[in-house]
Amino acid sequence: MTTLSQSAAEALYGNRFLTEKAPSTSFPQTGMRPTDAMRLLGEDLNLEGDPQRNLATFVTTWMEPEAQRIIAENLHRNFIDHAEYPISAEIEQRCVRMLADLFNAPGPTTGCRTQGSSEAIMLGALSLKWKWKERRQAANLPTDRPNLVFGGDVHVVWEKFCRYFDVEPRIVPLEENKYTIGPADVEPHIDENTIGVAAVLGTTFTGHMDDIVGINNLLLDIRNRRDLDVPLHVDGASGGFVWPFLYPDSPWDFRLEQVRSINVSGHKYGLVYPGIGWLVFREESDLAEDLVFYENYLGKLDATFTLNFSTGASMVLAQYYNFVRLGRDGYTYVMKQMQQNAQALASNLRDSGRFEVIGAGEEQLPLVAFRLSGEHTTYDESDIAWQLSAERGWMVPAYTLPPNAERVKIMRALVKETMSREQVERLTRDIADACATLEKKGGTTETERAQTKRGSGY
Ligand SMILES: *Cc1c(COP(=O)(O)O)cnc(C)c1O
Repeated sequence: MTTLSQSAAEALYGNRFLTEKAPSTSFPQTGMRPTDAMRLLGEDLNLEGDPQRNLATFVTTWMEPEAQRIIAENLHRNFIDHAEYPISAEIEQRCVRMLADLFNAPGPTTGCRTQGSSEAIMLGALSLKWKWKERRQAANLPTDRPNLVFGGDVHVVWEKFCRYFDVEPRIVPLEENKYTIGPADVEPHIDENTIGVAAVLGTTFTGHMDDIVGINNLLLDIRNRRDLDVPLHVDGASGGFVWPFLYPDSPWDFRLEQVRSINVSGHKYGLVYPGIGWLVFREESDLAEDLVFYENYLGKLDATFTLNFSTGASMVLAQYYNFVRLGRDGYTYVMKQMQQNAQALASNLRDSGRFEVIGAGEEQLPLVAFRLSGEHTTYDESDIAWQLSAERGWMVPAYTLPPNAERVKIMRALVKETMSREQVERLTRDIADACATLEKKGGTTETERAQTKRGSGY
């Protein structure tokens, strides 16, 4: 009997990466067959977390097959090539107009697609800075000490903006029983150098909103009393696609006069895969003209307001697909279904007697923020997160809140479109089982925990 050579065996039965390490340090000299490259990656990616059990992320983990087809068929299209792909550019503008309508803009306005809310926030805050500079220069006043006011409940991108673009951050700390901010917190920080106030619609920590109506009223009052026009930017990364459908009568958007710009992540509750965000201005004049670049690109005069240049058109098209596919009715249905399942999970956790749910009666993103009630000396929320992941693969993060609420530790479960009631019941039982294990064996060690440490803001 003859034995196959190693290479002949590989050709028939597998590839050499079943017995060799994957290339990782030097640029490979030779290539491999497409099937081998695909399998090599597939084998690596098998160990990624399962999106169905990832209750940590706000970002979309499922789109229907027709949407996936739109995405796949347009992957070659560079969105920035407006001259070559004018239809994609027009579809972006349709989305901007639809969002301006959804956010109750008073008239025709402007906005743009971005890579996500982070880019939208950088651009929106830059516009605040430039508009402030224009006002100061017109009055012959110094422009060297701009500041921006926001709460400790914001996403890290706001501090990043301040550092990257040289603006003093004035951060209102949280308190042990207060995880959002309101007008009384903001007022002492505002002066003539304040470029704007940023308020959050749906914090990453507990899913609640800052008192945007209260802050708007404060800013109107400051405008009238002190002749200081301080604009309000709403970070609606998550909430911008939730509030219009779950709480249509609750004003947070351009219905409030000082709200000059809004960002929203298409890839969160806009229900599109990662890589899409939006920035919408109240009026065209809220975008600082200085930040728009006009260039002759491929023979056509093009106006751009972005930090990036080339990027795919697929997610813009997918966003438009969702808008026309779902409409207000469809988004409302999806949001309500998520909310109902989140409420079911919240009741189950409360009924277990082990947990208290944070701010369940208030307007909130469809999620459950909860913590152990009473004294639990042998284990805490991080132990539960670790045990739940070890036993059942659920990814439910545990984290401490920002200053001065850092003594408060909570867990947070996102209840997405794909999370059925049956899965809610299953998760409830799995949490109970994880707690029962911990009651028997005590908390996990720091080393064990470090292996599954997860942040909160994504
Ligand atoms: C997610 C999030 C961001 C950042 O958004 P990306 O789309 O991930 O860039 C900013 N602010 C809030 C409130 C968020 O939830």
